[in-house]
Amino acid sequence: MKSLKNNLYMLRLIWQACPSGVICEMIHSLIHRFSELFYSVFLLRFIVKAIENGTEFSQVVMLLLMVLVYSASTGIFTALYWHWYRRKIKLKIDEMLLKKMYEKAVECDLSCYENPEFYNKYTRANSEILQRGIKILENCSRMFGIAASAIISTFIIALWEPIVIPIVVVCAIGSIIIDKKRSKLKYKCMVETTPQTRTQDYVNRTVYLQDYAKELRLGNMFFPLLKHFNESVKQAMKITHHYYGIAAWLRVLRELFMSFGTYLVAQGIIIFRYIEQQAYKLSDVVTILNAATTLQMNIYSFTWNMSIFIENGLYVENLKTFFEYKPKITENKNGLVPQNKKHRLTLRNVSFTYEGQTKPTLKNINIDIPEGQKVAFVGHNGAGKSTLVKLIMRLYDVSEGEILLDGVNIKDYRLSDYRHSFGTVFQDFKIFASSIEENVLLHPAQDDNDSNIAYEAVSASGLMDKVNTLEHGMDTQLTREFDDEGTMLSGGEFQKIAVARVFAKQSSIAILDEPSSALDPISEYEMFENMMKACSDKTVMFISHRLSSAVNADVIYLLEQGEIVEQGTHSELMSKNGKYAEMFNMQAKQYKESEVQE
Ligand code: ADP
Repeated sequence: MKSLKNNLYMLRLIWQACPSGVICEMIHSLIHRFSELFYSVFLLRFIVKAIENGTEFSQVVMLLLMVLVYSASTGIFTALYWHWYRRKIKLKIDEMLLKKMYEKAVECDLSCYENPEFYNKYTRANSEILQRGIKILENCSRMFGIAASAIISTFIIALWEPIVIPIVVVCAIGSIIIDKKRSKLKYKCMVETTPQTRTQDYVNRTVYLQDYAKELRLGNMFFPLLKHFNESVKQAMKITHHYYGIAAWLRVLRELFMSFGTYLVAQGIIIFRYIEQQAYKLSDVVTILNAATTLQMNIYSFTWNMSIFIENGLYVENLKTFFEYKPKITENKNGLVPQNKKHRLTLRNVSFTYEGQTKPTLKNINIDIPEGQKVAFVGHNGAGKSTLVKLIMRLYDVSEGEILLDGVNIKDYRLSDYRHSFGTVFQDFKIFASSIEENVLLHPAQDDNDSNIAYEAVSASGLMDKVNTLEHGMDTQLTREFDDEGTMLSGGEFQKIAVARVFAKQSSIAILDEPSSALDPISEYEMFENMMKACSDKTVMFISHRLSSAVNADVIYLLEQGEIVEQGTHSELMSKNGKYAEMFNMQAKQYKESEVQE
């Protein structure tokens, strides 16, 4: 029942994407099945009957000519459909499914990526999506054609020898049961080997992607990766051997069942009745035998297609779970729209624990940031600074406490409008294979005003000197994914593009999560100065583990193990001579020592 529901779910999607494709595939299947029946049952019966009755040759020729016309027209339809139009249908279905998948993937909560069960389903759906759509259409159409042909064959047999029908049907049911078991075993095998497939995918990605190329060449990580790969293949072989071994023996059982039932018993009865009891004419025997063979072939194909139908249903289940996933953090269409241009951000008793973790990453955070304040969050790696940003941006929701924008809980705002109030650059920002301008705006420029905004933002981030040396300036394509002449920038230059995004966003709060980590101290200082100039009227939340970049902030919050342990201006914290002063002095000493060494 679930298989039927899932297949219908997918058929509905395919119908929405390409109704003509569904109709053509059904017609194609009907023609195929009807032709089988026509040539083997009706045409042969007519010829044998003509011989029995001594029909005039001209009449036989007339019929053969009609057959020729039928055969040519169906041949043309099939050739054109199969080799031309069907390609287009497949592309249309793939486009629809991929689009749906992309839209859903973007909508999913960030926490989904950390939930292994959900992520496994997503991985399976993703790896299957390009084949399943057309497979399901083909399979359902085939079953439709086979069912139509089986009904006609059954009707023909019933006219002469109805006893043959239950024999064939019993065999069919037996085969369906066996095939269902086989499909389940194959699916179980696929599910159990998903962790191995993921391992292999990961190794494949690390070796294939440029991101890992340097470390792989300079270190020895290839060997542990290869070890994981070999181990996963070994495991996958063991699991596959187990399940496919049983599936193969089930297949043998099915063959025996089908052969015994239909060939031996059903056809034996027909031959016996003709030879021993002279129950019908030769033309009738030819008709019944061929109708029985067609029915048997139909049942054989139907059960075979039924196993694919069940298998498809199981795969669709993954897709459906993914497509129907309801994100926890949703676009609240009736939510409030932040009204002010300037905002006050308040965190009240905020605590947060990542899914699957027992210990909270942030504990009882209380912060009040009035408009225009320059705030720095500092602390060692792993203190919880980035997590704080993710909570403020509503990539995750707090586990306890609340975050307020202008006194209103951020959950009450419309998500996209709320997020629009912030310009954010993350530590692990990504550059897209697109122009510098689009990378800064994060959308194609609509008019000259957009282009000016991008230009100003790049100037403010300190990258304009570099852009001026590039032949295509702001239109320079970044990365070589889509353009062989695309430009690769240094880590620091890419980082400046990410910072330029914040300036271009023209929002009143800027959040910069370690934006200067790839810069040398002088560039970092320059960027910090540029940023403060460009953000003079904005609230700025600056995250860094380098305390030197935070000295000019209005308030500095020092985080340690998810808690705010000190807060105040640089001079206040230095005179307090606590943890901040200790860290600051230590970093300053390290910096001086490295300078002397250089
Ligand atoms: P910081 O930005 O100060 O370096 P983070 O906020 O990135 O620190 O991380 C704080 C802690 O939360 C770390 O111990 C880190 O391992 C953990 N953490 C970060 N992201 C996740 C996650 N997605 N799932 C589980 N733990 C996480």
